[in-house]
Amino acid sequence: MATVREQVEGRIRAAWVNGGPSAAIPRGSSRYVVTGRDGHARYTVHVLSIERATCDCPAGLHDRFCWHAASALLRRAADAAMVTVR
Ligand SMILES: [Zn+2]
Repeated sequence: MATVREQVEGRIRAAWVNGGPSAAIPRGSSRYVVTGRDGHARYTVHVLSIERATCDCPAGLHDRFCWHAASALLRRAADAAMVTVR
């Protein structure tokens, strides 16, 4: 049985495997669209804070932390970093 940390880290790894931050396309201030692995399904992620995001994929609708949400969190962190990195 995977620990919560292992589950979360697994979703973050999956986000990187699927393109990392670039997999999440910003749509407004806190909304991101992530294309599913099949290349067709598009899921909408709402980033509520640095640690909280919701997704409308089947896993997300069951309140599970999915790789789409992980991608959106990575994108938000990357975009925020670009404001200060020179
Ligand atoms: Zn999802």
